[in-house]
Order: sequence, then structure tokens, then C-alpha cells
Amino acid sequence: MRKLYLGLDIGGQSIKGIALDREGQVIAEYSARTPAAHGAPAVLSAIEAGMERLGSEGTVASVGVGTPGGVDKEGRVVGMSANISGWFGTALGESIRRMAKDAPTVVRNDGNIAAYAEWAVRRNQSKILLFVGLGTGIGGGYVIDGEILGGRNDRALEIGHSIVEPEGRKCVCGVEGCAEAYASGPSMGRIAMDLALGRDARIGSLAPPLDPRIVEKSPLASMAREGLVLNAREVYSAYKKEDPLAVYVDAVAAQALARTVAAALAFLAPDTVVLGGGVLDGAGHLLHAIASKVPSLVYSDAWQSCEFEEAALQSKAGLLGAAWYGASRILPAKELFDMIGAAILT
Ligand SMILES: [Zn+2]
Repeated sequence: MRKLYLGLDIGGQSIKGIALDREGQVIAEYSARTPAAHGAPAVLSAIEAGMERLGSEGTVASVGVGTPGGVDKEGRVVGMSANISGWFGTALGESIRRMAKDAPTVVRNDGNIAAYAEWAVRRNQSKILLFVGLGTGIGGGYVIDGEILGGRNDRALEIGHSIVEPEGRKCVCGVEGCAEAYASGPSMGRIAMDLALGRDARIGSLAPPLDPRIVEKSPLASMAREGLVLNAREVYSAYKKEDPLAVYVDAVAAQALARTVAAALAFLAPDTVVLGGGVLDGAGHLLHAIASKVPSLVYSDAWQSCEFEEAALQSKAGLLGAAWYGASRILPAKELFDMIGAAILT
């Protein structure tokens, strides 16, 4: 019977899964909307349906799972987590292990899984990798020689919640001035809307005060004044047309991220910083903007021998990372890297 290495990505919006064989080939995929409003039992049933589909072509050898928020060592959901009714306290790891007929199962925070994927895909070219993911929020992860630094309940590297501007914009976490309040996808849209509508965007020291002529000349500002809700997608589509307001919002985000990354370099001394996530799809230049600002924000040793790279896997990082991380718990390193290498080449 063929051995299968499963990866699951369980969020408040969707449940996704992938089954790889020993050669790293994709044998099956699964995707379904999360029945978040129907509570934990309904979500676990949806996961079970996915597991049956994914495991139907062989025997499940391992399962790796990524999920937002906190998970303890046993894979139980703790602390802030996916927006699923009654999810707190769910024995996610134990439930999935039972569905997998007791195959080894590991559950980790999804930012950590994405970081692991980016470490793994580089196959030892990076020893110490810091991952920053820009999306609805800003996540992160830190991997040293294949081991994730998870901290308590896997919540280490919540890099989006470091303060970049005291008394700045209110973050979803309740604190003022987090990087996430300036550089997540929704935050960039909200800043553009605030500036277009003449509201205080609390930019502070992140950029020079906005010249009112910028708003006058900006089609993006006109969209906001017409009542359109803006996100990073609109900002970067305008940025490509050299919209002056979009250029300003991008500069604010770049400065916020540069401050966060500079602090992380001083704390963690990675050899590689990888920037990824959905926002980056339209904003590859952000990486260069951050890399060029970092030298003035941290001592030279911290950045001089550090590479700044764009994510190699993008939207597949969560699933491949979960499958590879699950496999890493049972396979020797050489076999794991053979599996990963084959997956990259196909
Ligand atoms: Zn925050």
C-alpha cells in the first residue's frame, strides 16, 4: 500500500488538504468552506470528510496541520484562534490522529508552518530563517535547522504585533501602533481611505505629513470618496499606475515593516528573511524597500550577512509546509529532502 503524507490548513474561511507520496508528488487535494458558524463538531466533520478523501489512495503515514492562533503541545486549540464558534479547547490534534488511524499527527500555528515550508524548500541553504507573511494580518515564523521556535502555545513570532509607532493606529489586538495596523492588507486600504477622507491616519513618524495635493491628484482617493471599501489589492493596482496616494501608503507600510524586521534581526539574528503572503502578490518591490531601510535601523552585523528573499512557495506554503512538517517527524532528513526536492521540480 502506498504511504501518504498529509498536510492540512484549517482556517476560519476554508479547510484545505493535500496528500503527498514518498516522492513528494501530489496524490490528492481537498478544499471546502469551513462551517465556522455551526461550531466545532461541524468543523471536525468537515475535516473528517477531507481526511477520508485524502487518505483513500493509500495508508496515511503522517499528518501535519497548520491553523491560526494558539495550539498547545497536544494540538489543543488555545488562546486567540480561528474565528470558529466553540473552537477554543477543541482537541484538534487528538481528533485528527483518530481520523488518521493513529498515524503521527502534529498541529502547529500556520505562520510557523509557512516558515517551515520556506526553510524546507531552501534545503539547508538557510540555517536560520525568519518568515514574515503579509495578508489579512501579519504572521511570522522562525526556523533553526528544521526546528520551529514556537514559544508558549506556538505563539512566538507574532511579529505583526510589535509596536512601530507609539500612540499610532489601533490594531485588531487592541494595542495602538502595531505593524499590522499599518502593513496588513486591510490596514493599507483603511489608511488610504482615512487619508482620502481627510481623517487622521496616525502616520506619526512613519512618513512625512501628507501633502494635500497628493489626495487631489489621486484616482485611488476618488474611489474612497465614492464609498468604495479599499484593500491592499486596490492600493497596489493604483500603485502600478503611479497613483501618488498609493505610493504614500506603500511607503508607510514599508517603513512600518522595516522597523519590525530591524527589531527582529537584533533579537533573532537570522541568516535569511523571507517575505511572503497574499499582499506581496502585487508588491514585490516591498522587499527591496524594506531591505534598503533596515541598515539605518539596526547595527550592521545584524543585516550585513542576512539575505532578504521573496517567498518561494506563496499560496502553496501552508499545505506543502504542513505535509513536509508532518513527514519530518517520521522520515530521516535525507529522505525528507528527496521528497521536497521532487515536489519542487514538478
Ligand atoms: Zn496588534
